[in-house]
Amino acid sequence: MTLALDGGAPVRAKPWPSWPPPLDPAQRALVTEVLESGRWGASQGGEVGSRFVTALAGMAGVPYGVGVANATLGLFAALRGLGVGPGDEVIVPAYTFVASAASVILAGATPVIVDVDPSDLHLAAGAVEAAVTGRTAAIMPVHLAGSPADLDALAAVAVRHGLRIVEDAAQAHGATYRGRPVGGLGDAGVFSFQSSKAMTAGEGGAVVCRDESAYEAIWSVCNLGRTRGGRWYDHPELGWNLRMTELQAALLLPWLDRLEAEIERREAFCAALDLDGLPVSAVPRPPGTTRDSRHLLMLRLDPGVDKQRVLTAMAAEGVPLSAGYPPLGALPALAEQGLTRAGECPAAEQAARSVVWLTQPMLMADPVEAVDVTAAFRKVLG
Ligand SMILES: *Cc1c(COP(=O)(O)O)cnc(C)c1O
Repeated sequence: MTLALDGGAPVRAKPWPSWPPPLDPAQRALVTEVLESGRWGASQGGEVGSRFVTALAGMAGVPYGVGVANATLGLFAALRGLGVGPGDEVIVPAYTFVASAASVILAGATPVIVDVDPSDLHLAAGAVEAAVTGRTAAIMPVHLAGSPADLDALAAVAVRHGLRIVEDAAQAHGATYRGRPVGGLGDAGVFSFQSSKAMTAGEGGAVVCRDESAYEAIWSVCNLGRTRGGRWYDHPELGWNLRMTELQAALLLPWLDRLEAEIERREAFCAALDLDGLPVSAVPRPPGTTRDSRHLLMLRLDPGVDKQRVLTAMAAEGVPLSAGYPPLGALPALAEQGLTRAGECPAAEQAARSVVWLTQPMLMADPVEAVDVTAAFRKVLG
């Protein structure tokens, strides 16, 4: 078969589903209700927003939630609320989205970039412990691609050294670790509702937590330093306006009812792929994964396979893949801060050379359409 790249017929001409998906009737009704109420902002009562964050926190197994404008600010607010700031170090993985480090810098602290496990690409407890210094204040595990980080192992390190854990659950709505939902496992957990995420309001985020005083502090950071129940112009702490709007919450609250079915659909799509015998395989998950929310499917190309050629050839076949992350410390703005030296994070560098992603819109197709992905990989790599 001639590759589409060389003028042959592509495996697939049909587009993949668009994301975000069309509004469902429950979203349309709730958005309309909020629009017509005239109470679009959280400071006008925030009724839909509080219903949403309470339900989201419940899904994460904890009592408290704060809706925020986006998850970058959510990570910032969680760190500040937990008392992490100037002079502190926060350990972040070398294979993640830039916001994991940028939020730490915004909080005034220093991100310490630790290489990921070469197999599962998550923060590993041993490497984290080796990076702990007298200034380390927190660890930020990322539930990459919807696959939970090995939280019990990281929590043991945190307990030994008196560190906070802020979970970056931006990609992992509904994932579970040893049967427990992510987001509620650390001192605080942060979800994103940006356009590409598994639940979205275009933009948005939420911080969830178990401890009441952490909640009060995080709430205050997001509400200009006010005290809950206090007077409007009293600002005992330094804070910012990071609030989520009621319109965002109206798009998100009904989504909680669909999330399970959507995770199952993506799981079925992944399960239907057949890459046996090809020089590509799914990136394994860390121990303890009981439910991967399948935000993305990360695949590793065998050594010697030319990643750029695979990306180009697969796109020509109608199966576009994502190139994934460059190593975090290699991003120019972070490299400039001298956070890591080239060669210091070999596993993240290897992942940047060999890992490709199937992204969520594709995983949301009918699982029978996984045959197109299988066929394109067989054509390009077979
Ligand atoms: C999307 C994402 C964020 C940031 O979320 P925003 O809502 O876009 O600010 C942070 N961390 C990870 C791992 C993400 O994927």
